[in-house]
Amino acid sequence: MENGYLNSAKKEIGNMLIDNHGRNINYLRLAVTDRCNLRCNYCMPSEGIDFAKTDTLLSIAELKQVSEILVSQGIDKIRITGGEPFVRKDLMELMRHLSQLEGLKDISVTTNATLIGPHIDELKELGINNINVSLDSINRETFERITRRKQFDTVHENLIRLITEGFNVRINFIVLEGQNEQDIVPILDVMRHYDVSVRFLEEMPFNGGSKNFSDIKWNYKAILDHIAETYPHYTKLESPKTSTSINYKIDGHAGTFGIIPSFSRTFCGTCNRLRITATGDVVTCLYGKPVTNLRKLVREHNSEENIREAILGAISKRFKTGFEAQEEHSATVFDSSMTSIGG
Ligand code: SAM
Ligand code: SF4
Repeated sequence: MENGYLNSAKKEIGNMLIDNHGRNINYLRLAVTDRCNLRCNYCMPSEGIDFAKTDTLLSIAELKQVSEILVSQGIDKIRITGGEPFVRKDLMELMRHLSQLEGLKDISVTTNATLIGPHIDELKELGINNINVSLDSINRETFERITRRKQFDTVHENLIRLITEGFNVRINFIVLEGQNEQDIVPILDVMRHYDVSVRFLEEMPFNGGSKNFSDIKWNYKAILDHIAETYPHYTKLESPKTSTSINYKIDGHAGTFGIIPSFSRTFCGTCNRLRITATGDVVTCLYGKPVTNLRKLVREHNSEENIREAILGAISKRFKTGFEAQEEHSATVFDSSMTSIGG
């Protein structure tokens, strides 16, 4: 019988996933847990969120299966995220498996760098080189106020280790009004001798507590203007079409910096991403609601075929932009947290 999904605008061409707006979806952000050992105040409330029950989290075997199917469908880049990925004790088993997966060209991890230390050597051996570290302040007090935990030294130590051991490190720094704007220039000063990219992100209204804002002070233009006051001599770099960051190089600095307009959403036209949460929700736009869930499918007989079909169905009805997707929510109220969605 003809598959109904194959009649619609999206297609699985060879091993490419093309959405209903002609965008090639080759990048999966895979959340492996919604738990975290920090409580960043822009991400979740101090008491945490209503974390998923353990049996609703995809097991490592299930995460392997889902990854394999998606890679066979055309995903060639997987970013492991969470929650904090390294909170999951069995994470490295998944990493070992992914590093052997034919067709997967790029594996990366987004982490708060508190628990990565014991795994750095093995990550290197596996060739998993791309590590994004979330660090929103270089000042201990500010760091502790934002993360609500005392992990500054560990993060600092692990970050320096990752950089000096040659990992491709990108620092994610969310600019938060009234909290860390005084650190924007100092973090560039501190990192000037290191070959890292410091990426400044606009804050998004996902903190697990019905955050609602229609505007932000620190949008990408304000961030760039602020940097340019101290560093007027910078050059805009060519970036890949699907990049979410606009990238720059300051004269005399070893690394680069970038700005991610995650709130302004200027990058939707080239969006190549698919998100799967730790409980198996398929999210085709950060600002929208989950489109389907893979957990039940993966636990059923015939799971491979059903998962393939569910993925094709999901990418056949993607919103064109995050603004359109946002309309699924009442007003601009988001009650979800990035620890569930994976950023
Ligand atoms: N725990 C890991 C970490 O912090 O890197 C991975 C998960 S975290 C949810 C993924 C990314 O989402 C981080 O870079 C974090 O800074 C970002 N994030 C969380 N809440 C955000 C918000 N409200 N606005 C913008 N980015 C956010
Ligand atoms: Fe944890 Fe990352 Fe959220 Fe911070 S941003 S609370 S480290 S999941």
